[in-house]
Amino acid sequence: MQVPLSVGSLLEHAEKFFPKKEIISQTHDILHRLNYKEIGQRTRRLMSAMDELGIRNGDRVGTLAWNHHRHLEIYFAAPGMGSVLHTINIRLSPEDIIYIINHAEDKILFIDEDILPLIEHIHTHLTTVEAFVVMTDKAELPETTIQPLYSYEELLSAGDPAYEFAKDIDENQPAGMCYTSATTGKPKGVVYTHRAIVLHSFALGLADTAAISESDVSMPVVPQFHVNAWGTPFACTWFGSTQVMPGPRFTPKRLAEFIEKFNVTITAGVPTIWLGLLRELDQGNYDTSSLRAVLCGGSAAPLGLIKAFEEKYNIPFYHAYGATETTPLATISRLKSYQQDLSKEERFQERSRQGILVPGLQMKVVGEKGEVEWNGKEMGELLLKGPWIADEYYRDTRSNDAFIDGWFHTGDVVTVDEEGTIKIVDRTKDLIKSGGEWISSVEIENAIMAHDAVFEACVVAIPDDKWQERPIACVVLHEGIDTTITKETILEFLSPQFPKWWLPDDILFFEDIPKSSVGKFLKRELREQVKARYSPQE
Ligand code: AMP
Repeated sequence: MQVPLSVGSLLEHAEKFFPKKEIISQTHDILHRLNYKEIGQRTRRLMSAMDELGIRNGDRVGTLAWNHHRHLEIYFAAPGMGSVLHTINIRLSPEDIIYIINHAEDKILFIDEDILPLIEHIHTHLTTVEAFVVMTDKAELPETTIQPLYSYEELLSAGDPAYEFAKDIDENQPAGMCYTSATTGKPKGVVYTHRAIVLHSFALGLADTAAISESDVSMPVVPQFHVNAWGTPFACTWFGSTQVMPGPRFTPKRLAEFIEKFNVTITAGVPTIWLGLLRELDQGNYDTSSLRAVLCGGSAAPLGLIKAFEEKYNIPFYHAYGATETTPLATISRLKSYQQDLSKEERFQERSRQGILVPGLQMKVVGEKGEVEWNGKEMGELLLKGPWIADEYYRDTRSNDAFIDGWFHTGDVVTVDEEGTIKIVDRTKDLIKSGGEWISSVEIENAIMAHDAVFEACVVAIPDDKWQERPIACVVLHEGIDTTITKETILEFLSPQFPKWWLPDDILFFEDIPKSSVGKFLKRELREQVKARYSPQE
């Protein structure tokens, strides 16, 4: 039968078949416990309230929020009534957030209480937003100049608990969207259709991927504003898993406590989070025996991290790979049955790679001379195709650079071995990933080169134990320039222009920067030179 796939139907299923299963949600002030029956009714109330506020099919519904049950309700209410869930990364600069909201033309914004000051600062620049909703536990609205401002819980109490999910959804219509950072220019929007989200949810349930099921207690640590917390809230709701939402500004301690207290079985996040949790487990005395899977992606999982989780704490650790454009799950690293015979070290090595393609997707690895051999040596760019891979950036001409002949060009340079396991070895996009968030090397380079004393500047990533990658700036000064220009001079010059975590960890001065025959910076070679400076050969 031709039955359209719709995001609303995932929650309808949970309401019917798992009404007693729980969502445990930490907000600023309260630990809430609700079940799917209540979440369903609250979502219906929210849809009716948004309807009253004039939200219609196709309208964009923005969220600036942490991981909690209210955010989960909007995950279903927006697409459930045919509008579009637009999750906004709260860690971006105010300029980027203004751009994103205006570019997506968000009509309504749902905002967590602690993010309200940011919106207070920028709301006069927002050209399309007609209503602001604050998600607070308190009875009164906070003092603010933002207008018109509504209380989430007041809207819900006036809403209709029997409001119907839209039945005329076209599965190819947008259900969600999320912006991702670009090498140059403003962030780029990625749209998720109902079909993409539902099929991706199926993929998360497969036994050889994340195997999410009713018996799971899932705690998404990856933010709900990062590719829909990797789609786990959609899949977990559909399958009736218990969900534990860790809420605003959580600490490793809270994560460890929640794992023990709520018997979390599966959790997902970037390596920086797991390094923090590991330190907490080393210090405390927590029972983590309920965990059957820690999913790690967003940046390469260090081998030592995987070993520490598995050998020290007996926690199965799964390395996965994907991107905003891929909804995101694309590959996951699990040993095949016959690979169980490998030596322990070989098994760890194998599992530290990014893994094999998830069923449903297609891949191609293209080097300078066409598709590469699957020999674990030849390098090429990873290209992806499939029902949950985006086919363009939202209203953005940069689509032409990444979506070519029906393939998404990931910008990740990989090798593939005989088993089809990919290993990411480099990146063509000029971005540095620090703690799961992007830093544009080009933007920092341009800013440094605007300094009068600077002839040229090149920013490269170096590996970092805590953040995976950190930026280092390599600077060539104009000839004959006074030598009082120091690292501090450059950092002081940069600091008003960028968030603090964007500032390079070091400024190294060079005579010149290696360049290709066409005059482009040879970043790979420069990285080697930077490494040599930090650990000179004897
Ligand atoms: P985002 O769109 O922010 O999710 O970032 C996607 C990018 O993060 C990919 O194109 C890769 O460059 C990087 N990435 C994601 N997962 C991994 C991983 N497991 N190992 C290495 N890099 C990764």
